[in-house]
Amino acid sequence: MTPPESLSIFENLNVKENALLSAYTTFRLGGPCSLLIQCDTPEEVQQAVKALAQNKLPFILLGGGSNLVVSDQGLECIVIRYVSDTPRIEYHNDLITVSASTRLDDLALFAARRGLLGLNYTSGIPGSVGGAIVGNAGAFGQQVGDHLESVILLDRKGIQRKASPGELGFSYRDSKLKETGEIVLSASFRVEPGDAEKLLKEREETLNLRREKHPNLKTHPCAGSFFRNIEPTSRAGRRQATGWFLEQAGGKNLHVGGAKIFDRHANIIVKADETCRAQDVYELSLKMAELAKKAFDLDLIREVRFVGPFQKKVKDFSSAESFLIW
Ligand SMILES: Cc1cc2nc3c(=O)[nH]c(=O)nc-3n(C[C@H](O)[C@H](O)[C@H](O)COP(=O)(O)OP(=O)(O)OC[C@H]3O[C@@H](n4cnc5c(N)ncnc54)[C@H](O)[C@@H]3O)c2cc1C
Repeated sequence: MTPPESLSIFENLNVKENALLSAYTTFRLGGPCSLLIQCDTPEEVQQAVKALAQNKLPFILLGGGSNLVVSDQGLECIVIRYVSDTPRIEYHNDLITVSASTRLDDLALFAARRGLLGLNYTSGIPGSVGGAIVGNAGAFGQQVGDHLESVILLDRKGIQRKASPGELGFSYRDSKLKETGEIVLSASFRVEPGDAEKLLKEREETLNLRREKHPNLKTHPCAGSFFRNIEPTSRAGRRQATGWFLEQAGGKNLHVGGAKIFDRHANIIVKADETCRAQDVYELSLKMAELAKKAFDLDLIREVRFVGPFQKKVKDFSSAESFLIW
């Protein structure tokens, strides 16, 4: 796909031609896209989507880029990037309303500072509020969908609607939004009064724990846990860590090119050096899935999404040969 003949259809939006997507993902991987439209506000996303729809131009939407691997070949479509370093958050009558471009951790900090209960467990989770809602992000047994009051969605033609959490079909690390392709513009969360000092202390503890357990993105780019945890069994009665199974099976020794397993967590792939390609990550993920199948007869389900074309080298446990998703 070539970029639109004239960029004037995007009027005053912030656009960049031939943008390298590695700059916009936490894995620091991915080739170029013809055009990247940086949107900070719901109004900018709506303007961009309307212009694209009117001109029949396909696009995909990125948030913080912390839950995906973009192909080395890049993407043959326009990319809207909807994440911002400027938090847009309001609080009235026990409801926090936030633009989906706000970073989830900025939302957690906002709530903790004001002594508002309900979002502290999201401290330190990378990415945007929008990405967290779509993937029902969570930690410590809580997930974003549990605390949501409502969302404003935008369809692919640029039409808005308000939706309740019940309509979004939340389940573990999943929502119906992955299928519908609707964009989360903003969200409201219900919170309760609490103690700011206590919440900020708890937040520090959570951040310290995350620093111990998770890779430092500056030195070990990654997309967090690669596969979902294992469904609860009647005996265990709770979800079981995929990392534990992979570690027992010797998964920490797996690697492909510059893609390696994080030494403190067998369910995390890291970009170990600059030779690492997105294709390496793809192939390493297949090896991990194969190992879990052989050792424990487990069918792992990817949490991280592949975007764009990937070359299939070994048998994939999912049917798709390439993953131009959305
Ligand atoms: C070090 C590290 C630790 C992590 N820890 C956790 C954790 O504890 N818990 C957890 O759940 N996850 C964790 N993750 C994964 C990731 O942070 C979450 O999945 C996050 O919510 C993804 O948000 P994002 O904005 O980066 O989404 P992206 O990666 O940009 O996109 C993911 C998907 O969401 C869609 N999307 C993004 N924004 C919108 C929007 N506004 N509207 C519609 N669709 C949208 C994209 O199209 C894409 O399909 C971790 C990742 C890293 C790198």
